[in-house]
Amino acid sequence: MTRDDKEVLLIVDAQNDFCPGGALAVPGGDEIVPAVNRLAAEFEHVILTQDWHPAGHASFASSHPGKQPFDTIEVAYGQQILWPDHCVQGTQGAAFHPGLDVPHAELVLRKGYRRAIDSYSAFRENDRRTPTGLASYLRERGLERIIVCGLATDFCVFYSAIDGREAGFEVSVVTSACRGIDADGSIARAMRSMSEAGVTIRP
Ligand SMILES: [Zn+2]
Repeated sequence: MTRDDKEVLLIVDAQNDFCPGGALAVPGGDEIVPAVNRLAAEFEHVILTQDWHPAGHASFASSHPGKQPFDTIEVAYGQQILWPDHCVQGTQGAAFHPGLDVPHAELVLRKGYRRAIDSYSAFRENDRRTPTGLASYLRERGLERIIVCGLATDFCVFYSAIDGREAGFEVSVVTSACRGIDADGSIARAMRSMSEAGVTIRP
């Protein structure tokens, strides 16, 4: 991969709660940290996303009496998977993994802070309408190619990659620096959909 001024590394949700021991652990989530650090060292431009929910967020099973984590419910914008309470604003679980070494990151983009809407994608919240502002930021900065890594492959990485393509950017996903939740084959489905959307999949 050549690195130039138009490329940006997008590190998705490399947070404690998505690592083993966290509230919503992605299997092997912490294993990506050395690969992410190596990758980040090659980039001039790095952006981090941070899942950042208020307590009592609508995506938490605990906010819906009688529901369990991983149940699915209907909300105003369609289906929503319910999660264990995770990445609550200001908690240790919402902090970045302590091994993450990206002091040169230029932007920390927080998402999921609206109580009633979840946000997997770095570009749009789960209603698919509410923008995070990232597309405009990238355009204004002249950043055209996005290399995505982080957690989880089949949710936040997936939606960020798809929406990045839809917003007109070149997008690659580095699989060695990603791990997924894999609910009912969701990693394989995500890989297929990303390829179909024109996302380059790199080892
Ligand atoms: Zn979340």
